[in-house]
Amino acid sequence: MALPSVSRRLRHPFPFAILAIALSLSTGVASAKLRVVASTPDVADMARQIGGDRVSVVTIANPRQDPHKVPVRPSFATRLHRADALVVQGLGLEHAFIPALIEGARNGNILPGAPGYIDASLYVKPLQVPSSQNRSQGELHPLGNPHFNLDPVQGKRMARAIAEGLERVDPSGADDYREGLERFTTLLDEKIEEWARLAEPLRGVKVVSYHNDLIYLANRYGLLQVGTIEIKPGIQPTPGHLENLLRLMKRENVKIIIREISYDPGVARSLAERTGARVVPLAVMAGGLGPEGYVDSIQANLEALVGAVAESGSP
Ligand SMILES: [Zn+2]
Repeated sequence: MALPSVSRRLRHPFPFAILAIALSLSTGVASAKLRVVASTPDVADMARQIGGDRVSVVTIANPRQDPHKVPVRPSFATRLHRADALVVQGLGLEHAFIPALIEGARNGNILPGAPGYIDASLYVKPLQVPSSQNRSQGELHPLGNPHFNLDPVQGKRMARAIAEGLERVDPSGADDYREGLERFTTLLDEKIEEWARLAEPLRGVKVVSYHNDLIYLANRYGLLQVGTIEIKPGIQPTPGHLENLLRLMKRENVKIIIREISYDPGVARSLAERTGARVVPLAVMAGGLGPEGYVDSIQANLEALVGAVAESGSP
């Protein structure tokens, strides 16, 4: 439809000016980056690794926040309004902020089910899915445990879903996204081999964590999670719960307490003092322990855990 109109206009007294504008517009479109908003630092890093120069990525959650409690900022709705794609970790992890931001953004491209809504949980098999509507895992994990990003093998699945999503939104970049995925997956495969050796001392180690977010990581490396400081995800401990946990830790000889960095250090410290266990910080989102990026964050988590196990003499 546009071509005949341009050719007609070329007979106009100022055809070159019009042509120049048309060319500059088309060049502008060709060189524009895909505007990607990412819910968490993990999926943001993957989108950057896979998309390279083709994408410009903005992250909503800060690495040191609790992903279940990220505040809704209007500035992010504005970003989402102009976004070509939204990448989420999914499985309800971002329930505190993504549904509200999507509603505020009024952008049909990034609604769930639209091509620009990229759900990194697509190929992940969820664990701890509630068998009924009894909310046995509290209000925060109604679709199953959403903390699969802590297991790098799940990370490969996340990367695949993200690469496919970027290609869906920007088919002209298909070769680049496939290459980016290949590069990232090759790096992860190398690291996964290394990490299997590094994490060998974790096998059979009993731990308590603050929040119920270890299942995928524990299954991968053989950690045994015997309890959590929270009663259920999002339900703060009562004195009675802490007394029971204390008895359980003594009985099971638990020497490691994992404190996800957004959680109160006081409770973990007091449990540690009463049981002789060590408190280990853990990043539930990439960058929480300092090193940024998905791969470096997994490395930092595993080093922190292995270091603490070596010092505690556990198991
Ligand atoms: Zn959670």
